[in-house]
Amino acid sequence: MKKILLATPTMHTEEQQYIQKAFETNWIAPLGPNVDEFEEKVAAYVGASSSAALSSGTAALHLSIILAGVKENDIVFVPSLTFAASVNPIRYEKGVPVFIDSERDTWNMDASALRKAFEKYPHPKAVMAVHLYGTSANMDEICALCKEHNVPLIEDAAESLGTTYKGKMTGTFGDYGIYSFNGNKIITTSGGGILIAQQDEDVDKARFLSRQARDPARHYQHSAIGYNYRMSNIVAGIGCGQILHIEEHIRKKQEIYRTYKEAFSDIEEIEMNPLNRDGIDNNWLSCMTISQGSSVTPTQVMDALDAEGIETRPIWKPMHLQPVFKEYDFIQREDGMSVSEDIFNRGLCLPSDIKNTKEDMERIVEIVRKQFRQ
Ligand SMILES: *Cc1c(COP(=O)(O)O)cnc(C)c1O
Repeated sequence: MKKILLATPTMHTEEQQYIQKAFETNWIAPLGPNVDEFEEKVAAYVGASSSAALSSGTAALHLSIILAGVKENDIVFVPSLTFAASVNPIRYEKGVPVFIDSERDTWNMDASALRKAFEKYPHPKAVMAVHLYGTSANMDEICALCKEHNVPLIEDAAESLGTTYKGKMTGTFGDYGIYSFNGNKIITTSGGGILIAQQDEDVDKARFLSRQARDPARHYQHSAIGYNYRMSNIVAGIGCGQILHIEEHIRKKQEIYRTYKEAFSDIEEIEMNPLNRDGIDNNWLSCMTISQGSSVTPTQVMDALDAEGIETRPIWKPMHLQPVFKEYDFIQREDGMSVSEDIFNRGLCLPSDIKNTKEDMERIVEIVRKQFRQ
């Protein structure tokens, strides 16, 4: 029985050529020509003037939090429906996350709930938007609120490299934006991340902090606490090869989403994850929800697929329901069951590996459809 996985790295041939070059020149350590080239290529792709390649998306978020000036007891608004990696860096700096509920339209930060959060906490230090599963948040509303309150915006675009909103790349709306190149993301370096910023000097500061904050002196002098967050030249070589294929990866991800949508269109109980009408999605992961009142549960669908060697994943469990974050506030548009919890309860992520064949897709679809037949 062939195993079908959620999303695995898809390698081409150029990655190894870049790595080969690094070995030939013995440029193995951090920094080096592959890092420079990768930074230039990603910046050019998203339309940023510069970027800093780092060891992970989480490291990039951590440096964004530092650049935004978040310190002990500073409040940061962040969506509840996200991966813990969005929130942990706030806590590294002893900041206080305030979780914002999702909107049904995009599953991302609900601008109405965000407005309520500003009423309750008028002086947050930063707002973090996340583009979940590759779908853009509604940036017009979020950017307007941040501007109105003069609060810096961080964009966690870890999952949404290549996704646009009103013709502009996600990650480029905020004061700071980050992308992840972890193994299952739209392109990978095996592990890595990149930070971009509106101001080039912020990118320079991120580079400085990522190299142990070494002052420009001949001797080793430090005036700030630094980190070892740089990307290695080997890892960047993988990225240089991968970025050449990003459009092809996105096209295939979009095709996977369309295939599921079409295949389930006659089953009333299934709804695919909503896409932002004002954007073009990279469809990083295709997800579905099962309507309230259906006799089928997400667990049943996941178990049925698992029994056939097919990997799925639950929707991210909201942060306001996590034991580690239980003391922090959660703001929703209106009382009652939160939207994020409802999506978590009724949803699941379907296999979205771009190497899946037509036959693989047919197998998945058939097993899912079978659950909804009496
Ligand atoms: C993957 C991911 C991250 C973290 O990126 P890493 O490169 O794995 O550190 C952060 N936020 C979200 C939403 C992610 O999906």
